[in-house]
Amino acid sequence: VQGMGGLRVAVLGLGRSGLSAARALAAGGAEPLCWDDNPAARAAAEAEGFECLELTKAGAFDNIARLIVSPGIPHLYPTPNPVVAAALAAGVPVDNDIGLFFQSFATSEWNTFDVAPRIVAVTGSNGKSTTSALIHHILEHAGRNSQLAGNIGRGVLDIEPAPSGGVVVLELSSYQTDLARSLTPDVAVFTNLSPDHLDRHAGMGGYFAAKRRLFAEGGPDRAVIGVDEQEGTFLAGQLTEGAVDDRVIRVSVERKLTGPGWQVFARKGFLSEYRNGKQVASIDLRNIAGLPGSHNHQNACSAYGACRSLGLAPKVIEAAFHSFGGLPHRSQTIGEKGGVRFVNDSKATNVDSAAKALAAFKNIRWICGGLEKEGGLDGLQEPSASVRKAYVIGREAAGFAMQLSVEAEVCTTMQAAVAAAIKDAEEGDVVLLAPAAASFDQYDSFEKRGDDFARLVKEHLSAD
Ligand code: ADP
Repeated sequence: VQGMGGLRVAVLGLGRSGLSAARALAAGGAEPLCWDDNPAARAAAEAEGFECLELTKAGAFDNIARLIVSPGIPHLYPTPNPVVAAALAAGVPVDNDIGLFFQSFATSEWNTFDVAPRIVAVTGSNGKSTTSALIHHILEHAGRNSQLAGNIGRGVLDIEPAPSGGVVVLELSSYQTDLARSLTPDVAVFTNLSPDHLDRHAGMGGYFAAKRRLFAEGGPDRAVIGVDEQEGTFLAGQLTEGAVDDRVIRVSVERKLTGPGWQVFARKGFLSEYRNGKQVASIDLRNIAGLPGSHNHQNACSAYGACRSLGLAPKVIEAAFHSFGGLPHRSQTIGEKGGVRFVNDSKATNVDSAAKALAAFKNIRWICGGLEKEGGLDGLQEPSASVRKAYVIGREAAGFAMQLSVEAEVCTTMQAAVAAAIKDAEEGDVVLLAPAAASFDQYDSFEKRGDDFARLVKEHLSAD
């Protein structure tokens, strides 16, 4: 980290991002003072030679220049974190690793290259990881030096200074954009907005505000914005001065966007790019295995807009789409047997993403359930035309099943659900894990849940 030399900086939360912040601060000549409520995390930091200090003690924030907070720590809502409150009471600014990254980047040797590396930041409710990974994949396919970091890939403070012409692709969650004091990407992408994590942002307004920060002040040179919700339309409007302003690429998967300005939209399986009323490119997305469903077409449009902003040609982007393998736990096909396809979308932890997964397939044997998000299953419409039956998992499986409008079997465990779905499945069916709920009632993470599903499916695939 540049620009913090000689300063004392408090670091709260000693997980991956906290430790990497402490290391980067120390490497830049700052003195990190660390804290985590978990003694084991403190011991790990101390083993690396970092000083741990109880930051709620009186006077702990004397002579401290800044507090760096991990994204996993709720800083203000639902209740203020006591360390954050102590920092604020002492007038100490609160920041995070993303803020340090942008601040450092602005002053570092990276910017002395003739062509500075470009920074692309991706935010939104759903599709961030897929869109970020797709942008990174397209850039690599095009022979550009690209590094993927943030919420996916490496911690931002662990990445290497990129060579001239390189690109850093950052996936940023609302928890990360919320706190970062500097946020100055060259290209900013806003995928979409749906209710998620509302408890920590004190409602939808706070959640949108956190994401919107990426587009504030001087703002990015180029913003790629999904306009299928009012908030995206609002954001795009705020950033555009005059209708033909090139700063914004509007993205939709619900309607054809035409007229003045720059647009990318997908309809009936075709992506189109329009500029000031003229079609620039068209790409057939229908047979791209790694990007099934209209939600993935949205991700393709967002990634396309970002890559066009970095100067790539439509043909190069199209070729890269075809070699994109998709990400584990997101519309990932595990295998097929007897004409039945098995798809792992464990990452569908909220109602909106599950609905998108359901819309991407037909004849679905739907494995769902788990820890309900705030708002429960409100807004989840299970298209009974495509869902043949639901197999409900989770500790509250019975309560979950009662809220569904399709036929539902209470299975509770993944093992029972997979077995029941296999028993019922007929040729042409898709057994889809898309829980519409968090995993923490039964698993440590959505990845563990998806792995469990994949393991059971593979046992079935390899059995005679
Ligand atoms: P994020 O990083 O924002 O959580 P992911 O790319 O990991 O997004 O996808 C999370 C889940 O959301 C996936 O399981 C998928 O079903 C769904 N999803 C992916 N892209 C979109 C999208 N553009 N709109 C709605 N849901 C999506």
